[in-house]
Amino acid sequence: MGYKTVIGLEIHAELSTETKMFCSCTNAFGGEANTHCCPVCMGLPGALPVLNKKAVEYAIKAGIAFNTKINTKTRMDRKNYFYADLVKGYQISQDTIPLCGEGYTEIEIEEGTKRVNLQRIHIEEDTGKLTHTMDGDTLIDYNRAGVPLIEIVTKPDMNTPEEARLFLEKLRATLKYIEVSDVKMEEGSLRCDVNINVVDTETGLKTNITEIKNLNSFRGAVKAMEYEEKRHIDTLKQGQNTLKETRRWDEVKGETISMREKGDTADYRFAADGDLAAIEIPEEWVNEIRNSMPELPHHKKERFVKEYALSEYDAGVLTASKALAMFFEDTVKLLDDPKLVSNWVMGDVLRRLKDDDVEIEDTKLSPKDLSQLIALVKSEKINNNTGKKVLKEIFDTGKDPETIVKEKGLIQISDESQVREIVEKVLEDNKQSIEDYKSGKDRALGFLVGQVMKISRGKANPQLANKMILDIIKEKY
Ligand SMILES: [Zn+2]
Repeated sequence: MGYKTVIGLEIHAELSTETKMFCSCTNAFGGEANTHCCPVCMGLPGALPVLNKKAVEYAIKAGIAFNTKINTKTRMDRKNYFYADLVKGYQISQDTIPLCGEGYTEIEIEEGTKRVNLQRIHIEEDTGKLTHTMDGDTLIDYNRAGVPLIEIVTKPDMNTPEEARLFLEKLRATLKYIEVSDVKMEEGSLRCDVNINVVDTETGLKTNITEIKNLNSFRGAVKAMEYEEKRHIDTLKQGQNTLKETRRWDEVKGETISMREKGDTADYRFAADGDLAAIEIPEEWVNEIRNSMPELPHHKKERFVKEYALSEYDAGVLTASKALAMFFEDTVKLLDDPKLVSNWVMGDVLRRLKDDDVEIEDTKLSPKDLSQLIALVKSEKINNNTGKKVLKEIFDTGKDPETIVKEKGLIQISDESQVREIVEKVLEDNKQSIEDYKSGKDRALGFLVGQVMKISRGKANPQLANKMILDIIKEKY
């Protein structure tokens, strides 16, 4: 007996335009409550909206990046519903003719490349933000009201929470690459809703779709999907069906909780917004945008494989973030050894970024620093382990590697007579280890090298020490 999970996603991304969708108010996160507002975004009677051309341009860029058909004749519609965060009593959105129609993107799963199809990408305005206080009051901040959004709707093409995660990662990287959204989930500029249900592949029985609303981290989204997948399968196993409902993810409890049952689809009474003219987009403008598109993640990845002779995997990791890809290329420009630079970036640099949970652009490490550091190791002025310590120091202090090496006296000892002196002392003091080594215990050699490194405070050239230990044992013991 098998089950197939079916997942579709709806993602809202705030566009990083200077101003809001229909007025000249600042579009910026935060700010004192209700200070980025005017009669238009407050929905005062008589105030008229004017469509922000930049928002349309950004949405078209997204449409091109996801291979959608751009609808050059479209319009804005009013979506009517009543809620305190919606000043006008309607949201300006798009109904039957989205700016961008069907499209697709590809994700790399274990079995190979998988296409995820998009239903549409449309433009709309964001709503205000409600804060519920401990005293039971609700505070309203309209700074977010009228911020331009794109809503990206996929077809139900994903079959595991992991596939959904890969799609979300791809989407986030792409929007960042084309610079239309800052995609900060923690600030709400990227928000995700999930539609999920399960099919019994033998009987064809399906559960009713559950909608999980307002997921604000990828990790939360994946956990919520895993939880729901299991809940749906368990329900089918009991010969029952799930309710058609909207649920939310409770991070603390680690479970989804029912918010409301979905009756018939709400009647939003969609109608063309009479305050805004129909949108006609000249083909030349679309072509202009198409020609000015920056390199997308998958193109960059292919180029990295060809140009720098990196593996598919390495190129994929390096191009997953635009900032990291730029950092890598800038470092290679200064130190022409792509494989070595890739090893450093994929190893110690990425580990540090992960530990600190930051992007490379927010650290004190520059391409110049890293290229200098690698050059020091490559020319054997410092050994590999010292290099790792220096890297940590750069991250911590922002000093350049040569200064750190000089200040801390880390230059590697490659002078034979100096190393020999230390090696002889170590052998003198550790006769038992020499016996152990001679009787076939290879680990004893590692111990002896370790002692040399310890006495030289990490500065001895380890290859030289290793060779010298063997030579002197042969000579003397
Ligand atoms: Zn305004």
